[in-house]
Amino acid sequence: MSVERLWAPWRVEYVREIGRDEDCFLCRAARRETPGGAAACDEDRTSLVLWRCETCFAVLNRWPYNNGHLLIAPNEHKGDLVELTERELADQMDMLKRCERNLRSAISPDGFNVGLNLGRTSGAGLADHVHWHLVPRWNGDTNFMPVLASTKVIPQSLEELWELLRQVDGER
Ligand SMILES: [Zn+2]
Repeated sequence: MSVERLWAPWRVEYVREIGRDEDCFLCRAARRETPGGAAACDEDRTSLVLWRCETCFAVLNRWPYNNGHLLIAPNEHKGDLVELTERELADQMDMLKRCERNLRSAISPDGFNVGLNLGRTSGAGLADHVHWHLVPRWNGDTNFMPVLASTKVIPQSLEELWELLRQVDGER
């Protein structure tokens, strides 16, 4: 079976982009960098990073589809599942479980959507750095969701939720 090679000149710009990761907000979060140069203890608060492990971290999505929408990403700037090591995948699964447990304790959702968007065509806003979406769901929120998605009106402030989730994790 042969794979046809597509002529896609716009890819040049895209490939050039993925070569540089300094503008990637997930890489900045992984490196504990904040634009404002906040004090060390405040960096995770500023970037909304909740928890870290050796290879990945969990962060509150600034553009959530629902209250408590988290992203779980590897520290490394990798764009596809096949690039992830066994260790990275295992750590991300552990982190997903930790996030689920803490979201249940903190905001009592009725369910979750968990997923990956691989590639821009699938809807990934940041296609070059793999990230899992964990979206809490409540009974009856289906009609409400599209409104939230477009207006970004979230009932709880992100900083307030960050505090709450950090607290809940500490209580384990
Ligand atoms: Zn990145």
